Amino acid sequence: MIFRFVLHSIVFLLATVITQIGGMAYVGALALRRYGPTRYKSKFVYPVFLFLVLYSCLWILSLFVAPEFGRVALPCRATKSTLITVQSPLYCILNRQYVTPKLLRAGNALAAFMHAKHPGTQTLALDANFPFFDEFPLLPHLSHDDGRKLDIAFYYENRDGEYVVGETRSPIGYWGFEQPLPGSSQPCSRGGNGMNLRWDMDWFGVFLNDNKLDDARTATTLLWLSTQGRKYGVSKVFVEPHLAQRLTVSGDTIRFQGCRAARHDDHIHFEISR
Ligand SMILES: [Zn+2]
Repeated sequence: MIFRFVLHSIVFLLATVITQIGGMAYVGALALRRYGPTRYKSKFVYPVFLFLVLYSCLWILSLFVAPEFGRVALPCRATKSTLITVQSPLYCILNRQYVTPKLLRAGNALAAFMHAKHPGTQTLALDANFPFFDEFPLLPHLSHDDGRKLDIAFYYENRDGEYVVGETRSPIGYWGFEQPLPGSSQPCSRGGNGMNLRWDMDWFGVFLNDNKLDDARTATTLLWLSTQGRKYGVSKVFVEPHLAQRLTVSGDTIRFQGCRAARHDDHIHFEISR
């Protein structure tokens, strides 16, 4: 009995931490499973089916309720290159694609600028925020808790040096780390204490493809965020110092996030003022 309670509590917590609405769908599925048709009362299939139905309902409901919390959803699939789009459907499925309308405007302005400067360029969003409640962090990003923070993917080119639309190096956009060039160094030592989120994720290497960083497009984005982006409220941009140095970009708003946060040599983080 206690074991079951602990197990359900762990699943509830995990589902809530990962998707915000998943815990509610899980509790709903547990409560409703006994009311199903007898022939479907399988120990796993019917509860899983119930969970998926409830999760889908809550996911759709989130789209309509999020504006009450000052959030809107980023587009889940590419429609126009002039609009920022979520890199993988996974971010949408997990309900992590919400931003404030002001941040959406900034993201779309960036995507439109990139498309104008380098025609055909698609700007891709990674983790954004959950739809409801400030101070509900989107782990492992401690600061993504108010709709004003967004991670965007680097731009990449193939082995022939051609820009690849909608592709990254990693299937999820994260963890395709750029290593410092000879002569520049990482500011934080490898490992560190238990609070260090500077993961190397070496085991993830098998999932990375051969794409290479598109220096020109990535530098253009950083430059836009630190100059024209300020008109749209962009107040902070996080990228690793060795990468800013390599791409020869600098600015008041381009900063190093410190050693107690995740690395930013696999993606760009930016945030806007209220
Ligand atoms: Zn971030």
